[in-house]
Amino acid sequence: MIAAIPLPVLVIGPDDRIRATNPPLERLLGTGLIGKHHITALRQPGIIDAIAAVRSTGISAKVRFVTRDHEKDTFYQVVIALSDADVVLSFEDQSAAEDVGKMRRDFVANVSHELRTPLTALLGFIETLTGAARDDPAARARFLGIMAHEANRMTRLVNDLLSLSRVEEDERVRPREQVELTGLLAAAIKGLEPQAAAADVTVRLETQVEHLSVPGDAGQLRQVFGNLIENGIKYGAAGKELVVTLHAPAHHLRLRGQGVQISVADQGDGIAPHHIARLTERFYRVDSHRSREVGGTGLGLAIVKHIVNRHRGRLLIESELGKGTLVSVLLPVESLS
Ligand code: ADP
Repeated sequence: MIAAIPLPVLVIGPDDRIRATNPPLERLLGTGLIGKHHITALRQPGIIDAIAAVRSTGISAKVRFVTRDHEKDTFYQVVIALSDADVVLSFEDQSAAEDVGKMRRDFVANVSHELRTPLTALLGFIETLTGAARDDPAARARFLGIMAHEANRMTRLVNDLLSLSRVEEDERVRPREQVELTGLLAAAIKGLEPQAAAADVTVRLETQVEHLSVPGDAGQLRQVFGNLIENGIKYGAAGKELVVTLHAPAHHLRLRGQGVQISVADQGDGIAPHHIARLTERFYRVDSHRSREVGGTGLGLAIVKHIVNRHRGRLLIESELGKGTLVSVLLPVESLS
């Protein structure tokens, strides 16, 4: 019967020896346990004491059990129950829940840290303006400028956090509209013209097809290309070109079907290979100082990745130090099922 249970299960007989195990338990604690004393197999005092307590009181118990291999600890919640004269243990892997808990704590710590820096600056300037610089119009004008800059930074962060949570919420809902990509890319570029001009980057759109519609959410796709083009402007090189290309539809192995590639190629400093896989993590930045200086929140690519996932697409980042970065989005052109 226990062979049919997917959780690791261990049965200890009245003589304290192991009477039965199932394959998941053997993967956890090893084979050849039948007939051995349970202390030999379990070895952790917490669980051994709990087995004795369950046997004497008849009341079920839950305990934590940790296994260690070279890479990491795995946490199990073990339910110990009496069944006639046998003690039955079932092990439930809690690592996923622990990982989620850790991610949540890290996220809160990151957000707090990101907000604390501009808030500290604002409070410092308020103090100076109400004190030492109260009657100094030149200082007042300068400090108010910096305060506006810091407040804008907080607004961008809050907006990106809201976007991220909205995008995560409907990640499993397939988009149903048809979105025309040439117009969408042209609009995204137009919206960033002032920023491109200020950074002295020329943005050029190359289209290999006239009109191409894909199933998607127009607002979200606009955000994807807005974020990627904005990154190309922020991290590209002054005086150089940023090329946005809408490729002709083709069969893409990565999509296992027909898809379209949209790529954004800059000629900036590029990104070292070991950073690339982590860029879509929230708040991951290659150079935090530079990101903050150009108004980055560290959330842009995390938002992009979620939206691309929702569209069943792929995000590819290729880069070479000193040459530039090519970020591509592959989107399926056929209806999403
Ligand atoms: P940010 O708001 O910091 O720009 P993103 O999530 O958009 O956040 O990007 C994460 C990090 O990836 C950036 O801080 C930057 O270090 C790096 N990055 C993104 N795009 C580029 C690019 N085109 N060239 C070089 N580095 C980039």
